[in-house]
Amino acid sequence: MIKTPEQSIATRCVHAGEAADAHGSPHTPIYSTSTFAFPSTAAILDVVEGRASGSLYTRYGLNPTIQALEAKLAAIEGAESALAFASGMAAEAAVFLAHGRGGIVCIGDAYGGTLELLADQLPLLGIATHLLLGTELDQLDERLASLSGNAGRLVFLETPTNPALEVFDIAAIAERAHAHGARLVVDNTFASPVNQQPLALGADLVVHSATKYLGGHSDLTAGALMGSAELLGAVAGWRKNLGTTPAPETAALLARSLRTLPVRVQAQNASALAIAETMQAHPRVARVLHPGLASFPGHALAARQMNGFGGMLTLEVAAEGADPAAAAAAVVDRLKLFTLAPSLGGVESLVTQPCTTTHHGLTPEERQRRGISDAMIRLSIGLEDPAELIADLEQALADTAAEEPNRVDQR
Ligand SMILES: *Cc1c(COP(=O)(O)O)cnc(C)c1O
Repeated sequence: MIKTPEQSIATRCVHAGEAADAHGSPHTPIYSTSTFAFPSTAAILDVVEGRASGSLYTRYGLNPTIQALEAKLAAIEGAESALAFASGMAAEAAVFLAHGRGGIVCIGDAYGGTLELLADQLPLLGIATHLLLGTELDQLDERLASLSGNAGRLVFLETPTNPALEVFDIAAIAERAHAHGARLVVDNTFASPVNQQPLALGADLVVHSATKYLGGHSDLTAGALMGSAELLGAVAGWRKNLGTTPAPETAALLARSLRTLPVRVQAQNASALAIAETMQAHPRVARVLHPGLASFPGHALAARQMNGFGGMLTLEVAAEGADPAAAAAAVVDRLKLFTLAPSLGGVESLVTQPCTTTHHGLTPEERQRRGISDAMIRLSIGLEDPAELIADLEQALADTAAEEPNRVDQR
């Protein structure tokens, strides 16, 4: 069930889920406790047997700080309900186990951990999984029809994807999944709820690595799952007994971060687009992938289903006869303001070369099949002055150009 929000996302980010305490704290404090006391056996039984809501035990998620965070997370995605997790992977694992035991079809590039879980680990439990590239979308109906059983079937996708920022049509894919009685789960990590609301487009569940934009400061690890109370009810049992509930301290830190999510993401959207446009004209850059560029293949679809194009962009360094991996690495190593780290969504700009980090585990042939070139560098744009980020990129690219003749001479 989708809850049509009455307030803008900015207002929901600040106020949703907050309850003033007895001392007048303007937001829910950290209940740094593992268990909660009751006045009587009858009172504890009321909570244990579900007649009353209340705090009971933190691993169950029955802790006011965690529940306040979940109310905020639900409001931000326009969902009826939300569950917080200790990591994005914990959220994905729980939803796959709760609702994907009849089989899972993954479309397009997904996070490395997700691909490992789907390709190597869930099949060990007898769960059928299929990984389709974006170019193989025509096989979706056939793959879904091949999955049988009543144990729940899922279609899973990220949009935009990592690192090529491929954009998938959430509404159209949700319709196809539903025609087969399957549910659609969208990993909304790259877009953030500010730029994309998959539930309103027809997805059944949204998952986040809250470690990225939701946390936004590269200082916490957490995950989130949003959807109907009915679907999340089944997932909560898995979270409880896998023990993947976040700590109250992390929940409070994440709620703190969510209050500024829209200002951060809007600034990152604007900077990323400005940087993408400048880099597109740079002679040492062969290609810029960013959904906001009119030249980008997924631009029209992104403009239709997103409210902003996000803070991620991927550059392909012009290697001009040189080894593309070395040419890209030389640019990465000369950057001063961008931090070389395999994550995204923080206030500090980050850079990675996918073939050395996020996609290092794939064979060169598989990377090529997925359209991930060795010359790619992925940028997560932070909150620094965009002019200074552009200047940093320009000096890193200029130095590489200056070295090119030497390299040729040495051969
Ligand atoms: C990082 C990431 C994950 C995994 O999240 P963790 O919080 O590291 O477990 C899943 N999906 C995407 C798109 C990610 O970027």
